[in-house]
Amino acid sequence: MNACSIRDLTKEYVLKSETVRALRGVSFDVPEGDYVAIMGPSGSGKSTLLNLLGCLDLPSSGELLLGTDNVATMTDDQLAEIRSRRIGFVFQSYNLIQQLTVVENIQVPLYYQGKLGPKERKRCIDLAQRVGLEDRLGHRPMQLSGGQQQRVAIARSLVNDPYFILADEATGNLDSKTTAEILALFDQLNSEGRTIIMVTHEDEVAERAKRIVRLRDGLLQSDEQNSMESRKE
Ligand code: ADP
Ligand code: ADP
Repeated sequence: MNACSIRDLTKEYVLKSETVRALRGVSFDVPEGDYVAIMGPSGSGKSTLLNLLGCLDLPSSGELLLGTDNVATMTDDQLAEIRSRRIGFVFQSYNLIQQLTVVENIQVPLYYQGKLGPKERKRCIDLAQRVGLEDRLGHRPMQLSGGQQQRVAIARSLVNDPYFILADEATGNLDSKTTAEILALFDQLNSEGRTIIMVTHEDEVAERAKRIVRLRDGLLQSDEQNSMESRKE
């Protein structure tokens, strides 16, 4: 079961002089295979929500269920296991290691998990091909365009065959043509049954999702199925 459910989720950041209430009670369900765009003004809590969904941080209160697992009751080891096995992350800034080649960057998660054997190496090359980088395997990030770097990051997010892909402004640094190529890749991943949750402030990007959730001041402002035909092109 790879649905995700959040109930009355809150997150407070306690600073020296004040407490910031970044999420103030947000509830929604994400069925398996959904494709959700999270929108909202700067400071509305989008990244905070994505970090909680990705088990990168824990809520102050409320419930986050991934399948039947309640994240709040998990140990750090269990959370780390979920992050690496079930969730793929894609960020605006790609977060690649400059000294490593395309294939080596894709291998990084496996390297840290101590799981990098011949079979896994082959799989990383397959993933590079899958995202259209078959003739860039030995290039380093500096030698690649922004779109190509994001493809590397997407391939890396897939090494553990995750159920969830979480993307934070993944196309924020890309021109519209390259954005379209990256979104086509997300469409493919979603059509394989992977659940995609992406934060974006761009309408054209959000319109590709099946559903648009809007946050405002740490609250859910709206949650609508996306009827836009642009998805189907
Ligand atoms: P968004 O992604 O919509 O711009 P964020 O989730 O980044 O919103 O931020 C929501 C609120 O929480 C903002 O007021 C922000 O300043 C605050 N915030 C986010 N992360 C932290 C943090 N690590 N420490 C303190 N405050 C934070
Ligand atoms: P895009 O239109 O996708 O942004 P670019 O115009 O940035 O692509 O790059 C076009 C081609 O030039 C790409 O195939 C990329 O590999 C190569 N390239 C881009 N930047 C560099 C660089 N700094 N060094 C070497 N090759 C580069």
